[in-house]
Amino acid sequence: EQQPVAILVPGHFNDHAVGRIDRTFRRIGIERADPSLVTDEMRETVRGIACFGGINAALMDALPRLEIIANFGVGYDSVDARHAGQNGIMVTNTPDVLTEEVADTTIGLLINTVREMYAAEKWLRDGGWVKTGHYPLSRLTLRGRSVGIFGMGRIGLAVARRLEAFALPVSYHNRRKVEGLPYGYHATLKGLAEAVDTLICIAPGGAATEKAINAEILSALGPNGVFVNIGRGSTVDEAALAAALANGTIAAAGLDVFADEPNVPRALLEAPNTSLLPHVGSASEHTRRAMADLCVDNLISWFSERRPLTPVPETVEVKPRG
Ligand code: NDP
Repeated sequence: EQQPVAILVPGHFNDHAVGRIDRTFRRIGIERADPSLVTDEMRETVRGIACFGGINAALMDALPRLEIIANFGVGYDSVDARHAGQNGIMVTNTPDVLTEEVADTTIGLLINTVREMYAAEKWLRDGGWVKTGHYPLSRLTLRGRSVGIFGMGRIGLAVARRLEAFALPVSYHNRRKVEGLPYGYHATLKGLAEAVDTLICIAPGGAATEKAINAEILSALGPNGVFVNIGRGSTVDEAALAAALANGTIAAAGLDVFADEPNVPRALLEAPNTSLLPHVGSASEHTRRAMADLCVDNLISWFSERRPLTPVPETVEVKPRG
C-alpha cells in the first residue's frame, strides 16, 4: 500500500489548512524552518512544504526529495523562489483570493491615517467628548488628494478602482506600463512621488524593492504627503520615514507592514501622525480560509495531477520529477 505523501509544516500554521493537510497527507511538524532541525526521517520522506514564507536555499538543499513549497500568502519574498526554480522545486502562492480584502484594508488604513478615526474613537471612549467637547478637526483630508500607487498589480488595481469611487485621481509606478489602464504611468518611483501627495505601496518585498521608499522619495512626496504601506516593510527605510514624519517632510503615514515584524520602531509607535496595524491586510476568517484552501489545493493538485494551480513566475517551468 502506498504511504501518504509527507508534508513539512514549520511553526504554528493555519488551523483549516492543517485540518485539510491531515486528511490527505502525512503532516510532519517542525518548530521552525531551520535546516539544523531537519532529521533523517524528514530528509528521506518530505516531498512538500506548507508554510507562511521563510524558506531559504539551505532548507531546500537539506530536503533532497522536496518537490513543492506551497506558500500561504501571495507575497513570497521570504521564499528563495529562484533557488527553487534552479533546483526543480515548484513554489506556489495564493493570489486573487485575498485581493479585495487587502484592498479594503488599504482604504481603511488610508482613511484612518488621514481622518484619525482611531484617535477620535479613543477620545469618545475615554470620555473626552463629555469632558472636553468635540474631537479636534483633522488636519488632513482625502478631499483634493492625488494618489500614486507603487505596484499596480492585482491588489493595486483593486485599490485604484476603490479610489475612483472616491473621485480621487490615480497614477502609478511599475517597472512596466500596464496597457489599457485609465491611470497615468510614471517610469520612476521618484517621478510618481513628485506628481502626487498620497503614495500607497503595494509592491512586493525582496531585493528589487529594498528600501525603495527612502528620504529622497519622501521629500518628493512633500509636506502634505501621506504614505501608506500595505506591501512589505522591507520596501521602506524606516529610519528615513520616522525622520520625515518628525520633521514635517511628509504629513502622516499608515503602515500595516514593518521591516522586522512584530517589532515596530519606537519612533513610529510614538509619532502622533502614524496609524499602525499588525499586518492584518488579509486577516479575516473568510479570506484566510480561502487562502488556506488554495495553499492546500496546490499540494493536492501537484501530487494527484502533477500540476500546480498557482505557480510563481520563477518556477512555472518546473516539471514534476519522475
Ligand atoms: P502582483 O504581482 O499582482 O503585483 C505586484 C506589482 O508590483 C506588479 O504590478 C509589478 O509590476 C510591481 N512591481 C514588482 N516589482 C517591482 C519593482 N521592483 N519596481 C516597481 N514595481 C514593481 O501582486 P499582488 O498585487 O497580488 O500583491 C502585491 C504584494 O502585496 C505582495 O507581493 C505582498 O508582498 C503584498 N501583500 C501584503 C498583504 C498584507 O497583509 N499587508 C496581503 C497580501 C499581499 P512590474 O512587474 O511591471 O514591475
